[in-house]
Amino acid sequence: MMWTMAPSAMAEAGAAVVSALLAHGHEAYFVGGCIRDELLGRPVHDMDITTSALPEEVTAIFPRCVPTGIAHGTVTVLQGGHSFEVTTYRTESGYADHRRPEHVVFVADVREDLRRRDFTINAIACGLGAELVDPFGGEKDLARRTVRCVGTAEERFDEDALRMLRCVRFAAVLDFRIAKNTWRALLRQRDQLAYIAVERLRAELERIVEGPHPWRGLGLIARSGLLPRGKAPFPWTDAALADASAKLAGIGELEGAHRRWALLLHALGASAETAEALLRAWTFPGATVKTVARMLSVREAWDAALAELPPGSAGGSGGELQRRWIAAVLAHGPSAAGDWLTVSAALPDGAAADLASRRAWIAAMPVAAISELAATGSDLTAALGRKPGKWVGEVLERLLLSAALGEIDNDKECLLREAQRMDIE
Ligand code: ATP
Ligand code: MG
Repeated sequence: MMWTMAPSAMAEAGAAVVSALLAHGHEAYFVGGCIRDELLGRPVHDMDITTSALPEEVTAIFPRCVPTGIAHGTVTVLQGGHSFEVTTYRTESGYADHRRPEHVVFVADVREDLRRRDFTINAIACGLGAELVDPFGGEKDLARRTVRCVGTAEERFDEDALRMLRCVRFAAVLDFRIAKNTWRALLRQRDQLAYIAVERLRAELERIVEGPHPWRGLGLIARSGLLPRGKAPFPWTDAALADASAKLAGIGELEGAHRRWALLLHALGASAETAEALLRAWTFPGATVKTVARMLSVREAWDAALAELPPGSAGGSGGELQRRWIAAVLAHGPSAAGDWLTVSAALPDGAAADLASRRAWIAAMPVAAISELAATGSDLTAALGRKPGKWVGEVLERLLLSAALGEIDNDKECLLREAQRMDIE
């Protein structure tokens, strides 16, 4: 086997950990994702180590370590500025609720440990001399670009239902096919996805949507029928997903996770309100939920403006439409508006000229927030001789729109003069 691990500071530090284990008379190998990615020539972000040493033997060898999951045999070893998960060879059995093993038994043979792993491409161990332990043909499946379960696929998916979504994720991220038997088993076991925590579903879905081949991944998701069977709400049929597919062809070109989620939810016909509720239910972080909902709100405001004032109608391009656009930008924020334009450009019917003028309107805004106005609420109450109240915010909003449109200067005198001319409730 003419293959050696690409040199890096991390690989060197990992080799020191493996060497120390060997020097104490134990077996030790690099294993799993790092070997898969290394063999594929992909960047390796962390390196897991599998060993015959028991957890207490590992902690005795390495002074700097953290007992991450000692009951399951995992110790995190800190070495040369890197950390390595060192796990004792083990088998798993008695999976409760299709998601976690009830019994973990430490074993003496690395092949036994590899047998518990999900896919053949993840079940390759590699020694210090670059010798591979690959009892399930993982290297061959890497060459065939195939995701295949270790052992009987139907049993493996039944043991741990998350593996079905991991299967789709690896196929999507690596642009691999799924072995026929593995796919068939997935279709038979898909109802078990209902046992998996929403956070874990979300984490896999994020890697699919935010990865290099999201369109392919979404196609597999649609064909698998997995998501409607999970715990999180998923109000679409497989047919609706298939319909959305045409609008999603550009999703892989779109930079930025938030933009991809906005495009996906748009393609599925979700309102801003529905999108917000869904992303929340799917346990996305609050910042993601807000950002995506704002982008879709910008879409809704613009669609409403177009419905009332089709381009070319009286009011014209620079007039009322611009006013409505700027009002939407102020309501939801220039960054959400700019992001929405970027998303729109990724749609098959993204009208470039129309997008360019809306982008230019944003760029031309002299102010974008009340905090940037040259007059404050207390300036207003003083100048108008009125008690503070709801009117202050309303007047500031109106001044902001006029100033953002360039109708009045953002200058204290001008703003206060304009306020004095307004009808105020
Ligand atoms: P990445 O870190 O890029 O997601 P990875 O292969 O390292 O890929 P991890 O989730 O970090 O994936 O898991 C490390 C290894 O543990 C896997 O390569 C696989 O061998 C094994 N593994 C992880 N999750 C499961 C599972 N649900 N069932 C069986 N084996 C698993
Ligand atoms: Mg990993």
